Amino acid sequence: MKLTIHGAARQVTGSMHLLQVSQYKILIDCGLDYEKDRSIQSNENFPFNPGEIDVVVLTHAHIDHSGNLPTLLRMGFNGQILCTPPTADLTELLLLDSVSIFMHKSQKKGRHGKNKFNNSNQPLYLQKHVMDTVERFVTIGFNKPFRINGDIELTFVPVGHLLGAAAAVFKVTEHGTEKTIAFTGDIGRKNYPVLNDPQELPPVDYLVTESTYGGRYHSKGKSVQETLMEVIEKCCVKEQGRLIIPAFSIGRTQSLVFALNKIFSSGLLPPVKVFVDSPMASMATGIFRKYHNMVNQEAQDFYKNQGDEFEFENLTYVESLKDSRQVSNYFEPCIIVSSAGMLEGGRIQDHLFYNIQNYYCTILFIGYCAKGTLGHRLLRGDSIVHIKDRDLAVYATIQQTDVLSAHGDHDDLMAIVKHQDKAKLNTVFLVHGETVSMQALAGSLEFEGYRTVIPEKDITYEL
Ligand SMILES: [Zn+2]
Repeated sequence: MKLTIHGAARQVTGSMHLLQVSQYKILIDCGLDYEKDRSIQSNENFPFNPGEIDVVVLTHAHIDHSGNLPTLLRMGFNGQILCTPPTADLTELLLLDSVSIFMHKSQKKGRHGKNKFNNSNQPLYLQKHVMDTVERFVTIGFNKPFRINGDIELTFVPVGHLLGAAAAVFKVTEHGTEKTIAFTGDIGRKNYPVLNDPQELPPVDYLVTESTYGGRYHSKGKSVQETLMEVIEKCCVKEQGRLIIPAFSIGRTQSLVFALNKIFSSGLLPPVKVFVDSPMASMATGIFRKYHNMVNQEAQDFYKNQGDEFEFENLTYVESLKDSRQVSNYFEPCIIVSSAGMLEGGRIQDHLFYNIQNYYCTILFIGYCAKGTLGHRLLRGDSIVHIKDRDLAVYATIQQTDVLSAHGDHDDLMAIVKHQDKAKLNTVFLVHGETVSMQALAGSLEFEGYRTVIPEKDITYEL
């Protein structure tokens, strides 16, 4: 069999790997490459003929793994897309959101008259392409071997990270010999609110693993609940101010809401009003409820004994834009959870506009903010920021925590490999990380005696 890393080679976004068994071609993930600025030309130039791909296997819904699927179809892919049931539902939601972002960007460019007749104004795909994509989904449960053809068997193994997220494990028979290869997708963490712990992978011959947090370690000590309680107590109880938490609508918000539910329903803090202001978060929460049997034991027990994990008395899901604007007029201490997580667009922009100059406001970052985003500027300590066409001085307190990071750290990534049988595991391929992270992880793996490769983009390996 042959392996080619076509995306997320020495970078984090644009996951796309090709596995070829005889003439059969399997594409693992088809993510949007942010480094290419979501532009139409760069993301639609596939380094292979999309019409020749037989099947796509999708590890999870995040847009850097799924976001270029509609383009693949538009360019001629005609097969099925295999994924877990929650991944199918969450991907639909995320792809539709992607279309809204494209439309918004192209309208903005059009309004400003730049490159009026340039092709780059065109959205990468439209809603109809997303609907075509969704029709191709064939869902497979966790840990249920699925025969793709006479020679290839696929099993999805849960890896935490996001509801439905899976490692794709292939058992391949070629010229009478059996070989196994696993693609981890993104790997989550243990004891993460709502999500199951990553499950150990079966022994394989080849492992293609993510390396986002190679060389980096999450802070140890305080739990999610303890960290949140400390911030809420200071900001909303002692100082009677407001706490704004920018959060991705899908995954991060549901884990945060469950953590807040545990704090308030057990009376650990007085009931501070919580607003979740993101229509997409409400829709995603519906999907989490639908797949209730796939959340972790703690969340299932909570549901059994205390009711809905995503509802509590002092919580309001804000639906309409009118109600969203009313949140700014709420003068009691409160917590506002809103998107986008990196503060680029979304309803959070309004909340920042009205609160960034408030001494009694804290903005708590719980996720990564890429360079060039407003979130990144606030985190590096800019004293004046540009929001909604105005320059505003930053008087609010800016804080950050990694307790809700959805990626495993260096030790977690090492644990996945170290569980493998060293005598059987031939090579570990590192993807989905900056070069420096990959080098750090490769160093530790080689020290432990694992053969490790940091693949270059579009180079084919004969396995
Ligand atoms: Zn992910």
